[in-house]
Amino acid sequence: MASECNGSSGLKIMPQIKFTKLFINGLFHDALSGKTFETIDPRTGDVITRVAEGDKPDIDLAVKAAREAFNHGTWPRMSGYQRGRIMMKFADLIEEHIEEIATLDSLDGGKLFSHGKALDIPGCAALLRYYAGAADKIHGETLKMSGEFQAYTLREPIGVVGHIIPWNYPSTMFFTKVSPALAVGCTMVVKPAEQTPLSALYYCHLAKQAGIPDGVINVVTGFGPTAGAALASHMDVDAVSFTGSTQVGRLIMEAAAKSNLKSVSLELGGKSPVLIFNDADVDMAVALAHRAIFTNKGEICVAGSRVYVQEGIYDEFVKKAAQTCKNWVVGDPFNPQVHQGPQVDKQQFEKVLRYIDIGQREGATLLTGGKPCGEKGYYIEPTIFTDVKEDMKIAQEEIFGPVMSLIKFKTIEEAIEKANSTKYGLAAGIVTKDINTANRVSRSIRSGIVWINCYFAFDRDCPFGGYKMSGFGRDMGLHALDKYLQVKAVVTPISGSPWL
Ligand code: NAD
Repeated sequence: MASECNGSSGLKIMPQIKFTKLFINGLFHDALSGKTFETIDPRTGDVITRVAEGDKPDIDLAVKAAREAFNHGTWPRMSGYQRGRIMMKFADLIEEHIEEIATLDSLDGGKLFSHGKALDIPGCAALLRYYAGAADKIHGETLKMSGEFQAYTLREPIGVVGHIIPWNYPSTMFFTKVSPALAVGCTMVVKPAEQTPLSALYYCHLAKQAGIPDGVINVVTGFGPTAGAALASHMDVDAVSFTGSTQVGRLIMEAAAKSNLKSVSLELGGKSPVLIFNDADVDMAVALAHRAIFTNKGEICVAGSRVYVQEGIYDEFVKKAAQTCKNWVVGDPFNPQVHQGPQVDKQQFEKVLRYIDIGQREGATLLTGGKPCGEKGYYIEPTIFTDVKEDMKIAQEEIFGPVMSLIKFKTIEEAIEKANSTKYGLAAGIVTKDINTANRVSRSIRSGIVWINCYFAFDRDCPFGGYKMSGFGRDMGLHALDKYLQVKAVVTPISGSPWL
């Protein structure tokens, strides 16, 4: 067996799930249809609870509440400083409930509880505080125009925003979108992924406690083609900020184009390369590449799914990469000894296994893993393929699971060419001790972020987004504010102007 599959759980008591209804205009509601859907525990396939299934009429209500809060409410009109103070309070409340929220994301998404507790949920509080600090520093410019005019610009909130988010980081995605939009004074409707609706609803309760006015944050749980599509095509939504697959990203753009030409930003899929050069420390490179793909069971948009190793260290790398998988524990995400939990749901589990099958049929060699793991739930062994060719599906398509493709290269030119050979351009990693190689390669790779001798080095201050079909627009950093702002120029004549 490639890896230990450890079924014992650190979760002693199933927590009470407090929030399962839509949150619209400051209140929890049933869906207008009365419908609900199941959210599933991927450790077992059992139902955790049922959640309100919003659809177009619920989206209409939520957008109406957000519009009212934007046009007549206090949030866009209060000072940035005041908004920032409320956001800080929201962050404090998150910190008071870290364990409870991390439990929800682990139950819903199979994510490691230890990561949620130490990284994801504290990171959400930090995101809120970062943008709270920016809320009173959003300035326009003063312009000296030609002729007898002067102008200044105002950076105004764009209006009602629709956030459509995926399931792989339910909390981080929620705050990556919501925090900058709150800071600039927008109001919003969030459509969480149907696989992981629980933490988003919990955050609504905390937002209300923190003093965020009714109608500013609304959450409609439900499915993509119904609730998501209604939000993307709504005539009264001013911007959609989407994170998800490239396929659905295209539908979002189409919906925006066919409705009110709302502004769109897309954070989409990836097939990110990790390039490892002959001068790398092999142990360090193996550890980096391993984490780059197997963290969060490969369900990360920036997962380093293509690993290119230069020929001088290739054989040693292959041996050590296989060995590292043997020490990687797959099992219950509440168990602190476990490194990798279950895939998010049956569909994702089957999709990953299908790709593993395709890889074998295309002629790649299964070095390690390749099978489901455990007696129940959606666990998959960490899997490595060698003898992978550029044109194979497993080298071109996003698998979004624990599957690494290992490929040998000879020269820097070849490495760059191969790294750029997919339709995606989200992230890349480089492992080398040579600064000239690092500089040259990082400038030649077409992706939104390049990590040199590290991976997953995210920070709220560091912009993040895609090149090519990985999307456009930037989350994180001060760049993210721009998605939720628009610029107004105000022009006045000055003395001597014929207008005076
Ligand atoms: P997905 O595109 O299937 O779903 C994302 C969201 O879109 C969900 O809320 C879903 O309900 C909604 N949706 C689905 N169909 C829709 C439609 N027709 N109209 C409107 N909304 C619709 O993606 P997923 O499976 O949830 O997430 C995995 C994908 O997300 C991967 O491709 C991954 O790379 C990508 N992702 C990208 C980033 C990034 O920052 N670039 C981050 C995380 C995940």
